[in-house]
Amino acid sequence: MKPDYERIKRELSIERVLREYGMSLDLKKSGSQLYGRCPIHNGDNPRAFNVSLEKNLWNCFTHCGGGSVIDLLMAIENVGVREAAQIGNDLLGICYEEGRPAGSVLKPLRFRLTLEPDHNYQKSRNISPETAQYFGIGYCNRGIMTGRIAIPIHDVDGNLVAYCGRAVDDTQPKYRFPRGFPKNRVVYNLNHVVKDQGKEVVVVEGFFDVFALYAAGLESVALMGSSMSHHQKKQLLSLEQRLAFMFDGDEAGRRGMRQAIDALHEKRPIKAIYLPENMQPDHYGQNYLREFL
Ligand SMILES: [Zn+2]
Repeated sequence: MKPDYERIKRELSIERVLREYGMSLDLKKSGSQLYGRCPIHNGDNPRAFNVSLEKNLWNCFTHCGGGSVIDLLMAIENVGVREAAQIGNDLLGICYEEGRPAGSVLKPLRFRLTLEPDHNYQKSRNISPETAQYFGIGYCNRGIMTGRIAIPIHDVDGNLVAYCGRAVDDTQPKYRFPRGFPKNRVVYNLNHVVKDQGKEVVVVEGFFDVFALYAAGLESVALMGSSMSHHQKKQLLSLEQRLAFMFDGDEAGRRGMRQAIDALHEKRPIKAIYLPENMQPDHYGQNYLREFL
């Protein structure tokens, strides 16, 4: 079955999608128009983003383009048209399993990298050998992540689906993902957290925040960025634990956290921990982290 694009454009309102992503808070209404700062990119033009509620069309004239509700999902999720339509279907409650876009389902990797478990870079980030072992991270001498700290990424069932490589110096990109890796499909460390069933899960942006919280005896997962995708939201809502959000103390972190909380709070009680400017969870020692929570 192919997704019904026309039906999605007709029945799924842009207003609803913006609400689902916690992006409607700062928009103002004037007649049948919504307008405000663009909630998709980091702009500050107070009128850059416009929605025609009547026509169900949107436009960001400084950066993101515009179009139909499907174009909006493509821009928010950074995905292609077929995956956007699939998410649209999902939001409409239409079951759509067959004909999934190729490459959107994560396949377990058939190889393992051999990693050096105690590299100096890990010591410099206060990662103990025990933490490194728990997450399976290490320095890669040979293979796709040569010269980087390789971080294995698992799906919720514990299958290894990718490695991400963290540069150990100023090399760019800081984090290298496999080409086309669908970050929006994965919540990092969810495979551990579903098994542990503690009382609370801290939602953070990055891998190293998860490592720091683990060392402090706290359960956490990372969105691998400061925005929460549709699939990540569903996975977080499937957890029984209470959710506490702790993103980085910068503009993108505060914004992402506000949107995530707005998108979830009607369904779950959420705790928000705002860090001081320029601080990230992994900048804090174990005692501090425990105190925060
Ligand atoms: Zn924009």
